[in-house]
Amino acid sequence: MTVSISEARKRFGSETAVDGITVEIPEGAFFTVLGPSGCGKSTLLRLIAGLEPLDEGRIHLSGLPASGPGHHVPPEDRDVAVVFQTYALWPHMDVTGNVSFPLECDGMPRARAREAAQVHLGTVSLTQYASRKPAELSGGQRQRVALARCLASGARVVLMDEPLANLDPHLRTRMEEELAAFHAASGATIIYITHDQREAMALATQVAVMENGRFAQVGTPEEVHDRPASEHVARFIGQSAVLAADFAEGQADLGPARVPLVAAAAQAQGPGRVVIRPADLRRADPGSPGTLTGQVSRVTYRGGSWEALAEVPGLAEPLPFTCARPLQRGEVVSLRANPVWALP
Ligand code: ATP
Repeated sequence: MTVSISEARKRFGSETAVDGITVEIPEGAFFTVLGPSGCGKSTLLRLIAGLEPLDEGRIHLSGLPASGPGHHVPPEDRDVAVVFQTYALWPHMDVTGNVSFPLECDGMPRARAREAAQVHLGTVSLTQYASRKPAELSGGQRQRVALARCLASGARVVLMDEPLANLDPHLRTRMEEELAAFHAASGATIIYITHDQREAMALATQVAVMENGRFAQVGTPEEVHDRPASEHVARFIGQSAVLAADFAEGQADLGPARVPLVAAAAQAQGPGRVVIRPADLRRADPGSPGTLTGQVSRVTYRGGSWEALAEVPGLAEPLPFTCARPLQRGEVVSLRANPVWALP
């Protein structure tokens, strides 16, 4: 099911939570909305689910009007399921009951509904837990029950509001794999809300970076990471230094050294800013020409490699880089830049 949103606006009193969002989410996408707390992510999701009416704009689901001026299809008629971080399972029902109950409510005979539930529990690897109560499951298992219930509902759009936020980091990584498998198995269009950029990058076919009720950029994870449209996006996604530069002939003059620009930014001329990420920098022989030389100001071990910052005289921000061997604070390092991105 495609989700088309056009100029959607939602206000709460004087505050505009969603401020003119337009986007086409294709069928089968894993569309992740990434943004800081309070930027309007959950409100957008509630608008798509039909839990809130729109103030302005339109939402179409599979080409059919769902929300718009004088028109609001109720949530239960939208073919849209929502998974919240609190799972919302019925505590008195066993796992099978939690998955089969919505089918029974739709009029399916009990025995058939419970049989159908087993198929979906198999998809999320919960067959052996079918007769347990939610209280007897781990957080990740409960989340999988909620996913199985989504599958059973037959919803073609699944909205997920920070579904992994309550899980420990180890379980989160496993659940990411399960969500990817769920997406592949169901073929559903998934709209996934998170403020965790690592999670967004791992799962999404498309990422929307949200800021103050608007989409600052929509693109593949690679696009928003490698070619951010604004300083906000550059700083929100991954580590970076954003530095003033003078552009000429496909190069950025940073003051202490000139660095090459990526082909897509090579036409930049005059004053501007570059984004330098750890992957753009490699160690060079100390003092070799064209390198940025500075002192290491911070070192963090990241399991197998070290993340560090180098203070380079003449640069307004420290350069983030990674290193395969241990470093000391205060050590002098020279870094050579691969082609970097110029902010538009
Ligand atoms: P978080 O990541 O913290 O959940 P969010 O990006 O999902 O945040 P929203 O919950 O959409 O943000 O809220 C956006 C803004 O709208 C916030 O400033 C919030 O206070 C406000 N808001 C949301 N719902 C309501 C409501 N029912 N009444 C009044 N204000 C609201």
